[in-house]
Amino acid sequence: MKLKEECAVFGCQGADDAAGIAYLGLYALQHRGQESSGIVTSDGSRVYEHRDLGLVSKVYDRETLDRLRGRMCIGHNRYSTTGLTSTANIQPMLVDCKIGKIAVAHNGNLVNAVDLRRAMELDGSIFRSTTDSEVLLHLIARSRAGTLEEMIMEALSKARGAFSLVFLTKDRVIAARDPHGFRPLCLGRLGEAHVVASESCAFDIIGATYQREVAPGELCVLGEGGPRYLRWSEPAAKQNRCIFEFIYFSRPDSRVFGENVDKVRRKLGRRLAVESAVDADIVIAVPDSSNTIALGYAEESKLPFELGLIRNHYVGRTFIQPRQAMRDWDVRIKFNPVRGVLKGKRVVVVDDSIVRGSTMRKLVSIIRQGGAAEIHLRIGSPPITHSCFYGIDTPTRGELIASSHSVEAIREYLGVESLHYLSTEGLLSCVEEPDNYCVACFTGAYPVDPSDGTNKTVFESRTGCGDGFENE
Ligand code: SF4
Repeated sequence: MKLKEECAVFGCQGADDAAGIAYLGLYALQHRGQESSGIVTSDGSRVYEHRDLGLVSKVYDRETLDRLRGRMCIGHNRYSTTGLTSTANIQPMLVDCKIGKIAVAHNGNLVNAVDLRRAMELDGSIFRSTTDSEVLLHLIARSRAGTLEEMIMEALSKARGAFSLVFLTKDRVIAARDPHGFRPLCLGRLGEAHVVASESCAFDIIGATYQREVAPGELCVLGEGGPRYLRWSEPAAKQNRCIFEFIYFSRPDSRVFGENVDKVRRKLGRRLAVESAVDADIVIAVPDSSNTIALGYAEESKLPFELGLIRNHYVGRTFIQPRQAMRDWDVRIKFNPVRGVLKGKRVVVVDDSIVRGSTMRKLVSIIRQGGAAEIHLRIGSPPITHSCFYGIDTPTRGELIASSHSVEAIREYLGVESLHYLSTEGLLSCVEEPDNYCVACFTGAYPVDPSDGTNKTVFESRTGCGDGFENE
């Protein structure tokens, strides 16, 4: 099991067929969230919306996109990090308030959402979803500031935690990022149009050019009179970009936090090889997320990189357990060993991370059955010992195998000849500004106090609501 992806946001202003552009952008960003997708557009006077549970390919068809009129839009792919998978929680979230219609799409997690919501409910506010993003819309609607931008800025100043956001009103798209810069958000140009996305791979598919990151604490207002860049907060003295974007979440062909993901990921592999050299015959990856790290490892160690595991790309999020299921069927359905590659070989297996350890244990047994003589497991990140509260769905601390087991105990549990994790220093040596990264899931040093103890179903467990689409 991996850490779960988070969410993807996309925005576009000033383009014909903005919805079609968002559709392509969201397609490219599918890896960041597969539970639901939505697009809200504006033609300058009316706002149109469509959202549903499922993959981008299922949620939209030609007819739907034709109905989403206008030259500006925002879109969202969701993996729930607060609130269960329910139709009410699908983003972008659209509400009507004193300034007219406003929609929001959010990547991240507010750590003070429970306190903010409780205070507003005591004051009479009614909520229709169980996400932290709706709290932001309430804060905006309640603001007495003079302009839309000031209302948003006032709302953001009350929020704590991780947020890369896109807003849509009938005449503009607004992008904003928290002062710590936890989650990525970048700006691009498509002719005269402006686009904004979680990762730059969304720009490539539409032929847009990458311009720059939305700066931490910045508000980018994209409207008819050209873009305006405002500062709603000073950036935090030390930024806290999520290092996991480079380890696993972002696509290797993306540029995030100003660096190419592929380049950083290869460096992780090279550094891992330096830290944990071993006598072996071949290097294989746990595909696809670890491919680039494994390539880096193979380059540095001068060992051949081989395709020792084949991943089935057609496995959805839920599949039905066969009555006569063989042992480890859930991992076998995703990965099959290539016996001709593995037989009799001393194999270095590279993966990006270990969360609970149970999936890796099954995978090791499959590789062993594929004929590997020795298995040397190399992990492109340090042991995950703490949960994330900034927009990544991690299990509770007790479920993380490294929170309670030494590396040697994990090695024994997994049944491998050797196990090495990349060191935290090694990890940080691979990025350009090592002081500006969050590594709290490896160290427990949380840059923003998560004392709300926010978990993804906090609102349901408190209110008993949600419509029952439990996650796996
Ligand atoms: Fe990323 Fe870990 Fe920090 Fe969460 S705790 S933001 S996963 S580095």
